[in-house]
Amino acid sequence: MKSSPLIQSIEIKPVSFPLKNPFVTAAGHKTRTDNVQIFLRLSDGTRGVAEASSSIAMPGESQENMQRALKEMIPELWGKPIEDYKTLVELCWRLQPFHPTAAAAMECAILDAFARTKKQPLAHLLGQKSVTIETDFTLSVDEPDRLHKAARAASRKGFRKLKVKLAGDSPEKDAERLKAVHKAAPRAELVADGNQGLALSQAVQLAHLLNRAQIRPLFLEQPFRRHDVRSMKLFRHRSRLPLLADESILTASDALRLFEAGAADGVNIKVAKSGLLGALDIIRIAQRFKKRLAIGCMEESKLGLAASVHLACGTGVFEWVDLDSVFLLEQPALRGGFAVKGPKFSVNGIRSGIGIA
Ligand SMILES: [Mg+2]
Repeated sequence: MKSSPLIQSIEIKPVSFPLKNPFVTAAGHKTRTDNVQIFLRLSDGTRGVAEASSSIAMPGESQENMQRALKEMIPELWGKPIEDYKTLVELCWRLQPFHPTAAAAMECAILDAFARTKKQPLAHLLGQKSVTIETDFTLSVDEPDRLHKAARAASRKGFRKLKVKLAGDSPEKDAERLKAVHKAAPRAELVADGNQGLALSQAVQLAHLLNRAQIRPLFLEQPFRRHDVRSMKLFRHRSRLPLLADESILTASDALRLFEAGAADGVNIKVAKSGLLGALDIIRIAQRFKKRLAIGCMEESKLGLAASVHLACGTGVFEWVDLDSVFLLEQPALRGGFAVKGPKFSVNGIRSGIGIA
């Protein structure tokens, strides 16, 4: 039997990309993203690449912290056979339990390299269900008149799904934001993201105002603080607007706990929170509870976003795809990878791994 190639080197490189427009949520704002790229090489020359993105939602995952966490993993992974990718992934998460984005990125580099040794696209390894997805476009917190313009521009570019970031300043103002977007793009499907910035009474009032204006977002994402299970449960009793958890669910056990408590109608999964194999576990739990599934991203460049695109295509389970970071940041042109046509991404024709050299 041919022996498995071994991990021979791992390079860690800090990269920064300016954002095209400031990214503003109820939790803060940023004008550029400071990320870390990983270049892994096996003994037979096969490569694996990935990227960890910093995020407003996860302040501990600074570029500096992620670099340190990634560097600490290198000696533990060095010389190990790629065939044991599951053990290697477990090792990453055991070594860096408090740096999920760093652990997830190392996992993506390992799985990219493994898929390449198998001469399979990563999407095949993750389920082979489909080759295309359609992403939404995210509108940052802004004044209603500016949101109207931004929604119209996105709609002209072909986006049919829009995510509106809420400020949590007042339910009336947040309702005005959604009304402005709906008016500019009446046929677009909408979701709203509170980014932990709302109180229970605010969220209930917002749902009421939207209902009265006959605006029906598909769901309201993470309005409350991540540990506030009580408000999540009460909201579900007081409103018919479906509630999705984002920051509250990082692991499969978070998902289990929340769904058992009746605290959410679904989950927004992100590779940067859960990794790829962890995402598959969360999907299984959500399906067992018949919950809704969305996939999101941080501010990854095309190189970093690729693993999420393969996950979304491979599993084919996501009702809502929010993988729009490639449109939000300025980045160098990149050869290969998933194809982008308007809001649609395709992994068709990718022969191995994520398809990026
Ligand atoms: Mg969110």
